[in-house]
Amino acid sequence: MKPIIIAIDGYSSCGKSTLAKAIAERLNYAYMDTGAMYRTVTLFLLRQRIAVEDCSEMQINALMDQIDIQFKKDENSNENITLLNGEEVETEIRGKAVSDAVSSVAQNKFIRKRMLDLQRKAGENKKIVMDGRDIGTSVFPDADLKIFMTADESIRAKRRFKELQAKGITEVSYEEVYENLRLRDKNDTERVENPLRKAVDAVLLDNSYLNQEEQLDFVLTLLKERFDLS
Ligand code: C5P
Repeated sequence: MKPIIIAIDGYSSCGKSTLAKAIAERLNYAYMDTGAMYRTVTLFLLRQRIAVEDCSEMQINALMDQIDIQFKKDENSNENITLLNGEEVETEIRGKAVSDAVSSVAQNKFIRKRMLDLQRKAGENKKIVMDGRDIGTSVFPDADLKIFMTADESIRAKRRFKELQAKGITEVSYEEVYENLRLRDKNDTERVENPLRKAVDAVLLDNSYLNQEEQLDFVLTLLKERFDLS
C-alpha cells in the first residue's frame, strides 16, 4: 500500500485515540495524539500561572520555545506516555485541572500555529495516523483518509469516566466528566481558530454501539476499498 496520512477528528472522548492507535499498529505507522500536545502546553502554562489571554504573539512564542513535547511507549502496558521537557506527565495531563483549562488554551491562534507546524512536520513522510479536532480540516486538508467520529454524549461520558478510573484518576466524578465533555465540545466547535468541524470529505463514524474491533474493521474495509490494503 502506498504511504498515506490518516486523519481522525471528532468530539471529546469518542475513542479517537484508541482507534487511531489500533490503525497505526495494524499498518505499522506512527501515531500522534494532538490532544495530548494541547494538554501538555496547558499543564506548562498552569504550572507557571500564565493566562494566555494576556500574552502577545512574541510572549507566546517565547513560552513555546521552552516546551519540548515527546511521546514514548510504556514497555509494560504499550500505552503512550507524554513527556514535557523529559518529565512524564501522562497522568497529570488527563486530570481535572488540565481538562478544565485545555479548550480555552487551544483557542489561542499563536499556540495553534506552533502546534500545527509540529504536526505537519511529523507527517512530512506520511505513514502517520493523527487524531484531534482539526486534522482533516487544517493540519492535513489533503489527508488521504479522513474519519470524523461521534457518539452519544452520555455513552462518551461513561466511557471516559471508566477510563479515568482505570488509570487511577479518581478525583473526578461522573457528573464532572459529563460537564467537562459538554463544555469542551461547545468551546471546540464554537471557537474562531480551526473549530471542530467534519471535513466535507471525511467519513462519519458513529461508534455509540460499536466495539473497538468493529470500529477497526470499519476503517480497514475503507482502506481495502481505497488503497489496496491486503
Ligand atoms: O483529544 P483530547 O480530548 O485530549 O483534546 C483535549 C483538547 O485539546 C480538546 O478539547 C481541544 O480543545 C484541544 N484540541 C484541539 N485541536 C486538536 C486536538 C485537541 O484544539 N487537534
